[in-house]
Amino acid sequence: MSERPRLPTESGVPDGFQYMHPAYIKNFGNWAYHDRPRPGVLHHVAKSGDEVWTVRVGTQRQLGPYEINLLCDIIDKFADGYVRFTIRSNMEVTVTDEAKVQPLVEAFEDAGYPVGGTGNSLTMISHTQGWLHCDIPGTDASGVVKALMDELYDEFRREEMPNRVHMTTSCCQINCGGQGDIAINVQHTKPPKINHDLVANVCERPSVVARCPVAAIRPAIVNGKPSLEVDEKKCICCGACFPPCPPMQINDPEHSKLAIWVGGKHSNARSKPMFHKLVAAGIPNNPPRWPEVTEVVKNILHTYKADAKNWERIGDWIERIGWPRFFELTELPFTKFHIDNWTGARKSLNASTHIRF
Ligand code: SF4
Ligand code: SF4
Repeated sequence: MSERPRLPTESGVPDGFQYMHPAYIKNFGNWAYHDRPRPGVLHHVAKSGDEVWTVRVGTQRQLGPYEINLLCDIIDKFADGYVRFTIRSNMEVTVTDEAKVQPLVEAFEDAGYPVGGTGNSLTMISHTQGWLHCDIPGTDASGVVKALMDELYDEFRREEMPNRVHMTTSCCQINCGGQGDIAINVQHTKPPKINHDLVANVCERPSVVARCPVAAIRPAIVNGKPSLEVDEKKCICCGACFPPCPPMQINDPEHSKLAIWVGGKHSNARSKPMFHKLVAAGIPNNPPRWPEVTEVVKNILHTYKADAKNWERIGDWIERIGWPRFFELTELPFTKFHIDNWTGARKSLNASTHIRF
């Protein structure tokens, strides 16, 4: 055995300083204040007296070579050649000369890229990978975003909401979706269909059994071959068994729907972080424009805009007016399926790695 210590392999993100605008590096940690001269433009003043203006631009996130070249040409020609992406797929382009701001804004807007997403706007929707990159999605999260943002374009460019609005989409029920003021998530409504011929070759059965949060999967012998079976009365259609065992197909063009959740937020500003709650379910997963989703989202957004007080996030607004009033105002149907207070979850949810049958 080698005597050399086993060193970790560094595979994290590269050091961000090498890509930063020189004004950021020079004034790192020494900023005096910031303001917003107009929607989509941030202005930071350093204690040294240096000033920077940052133009925020919405992108479609999944950029091809044409879009990347187009945007880089604008950044090289009208700005200082530095750009960063925010977690919601907005680009931020910084300049140190105020005179460059307006031509930069115009160049982006002429190319079809909106400037906005700051302050009390509807900023870009953060979305998961969808059909393009992931192997388990039930919908195209980025497609839902495109369809929605086409309709909500002006809310991105203005700062007219009571507070900022963060929307998210997620293309399965279990993995990378985040909390959002409004979240659009896949909702499976039928248990998985099992292709028994493939299970023994493809799936590690104990790990699939352990993965089910309600212990609905059991090992079984089907047609003389080792396979699995699902207790459909227990199954909550979460889809967690499908990633480790693709023969347990749960995606379905008719029965995989979309659900809308509201009132979640990560931030501690003004009120505590909140979990979002289900308000609309069983919405058709209807590509390429998802009109039924857009209608519900616009309804919620416009009701919030009209009724909330200044600085209330969607969750704060609903806490003040109460859920009954929320459903009255939005005219969304309220059903028994909206209620889950997790009473009994200790028994029904698989809270340990123990396998129970
Ligand atoms: S949300 Fe689920 S399906 Fe979508 S990218 Fe993440 S893991 Fe894949
Ligand atoms: S993992 Fe989820 S979808 Fe699969 S059987 Fe269990 S509850 Fe049903």
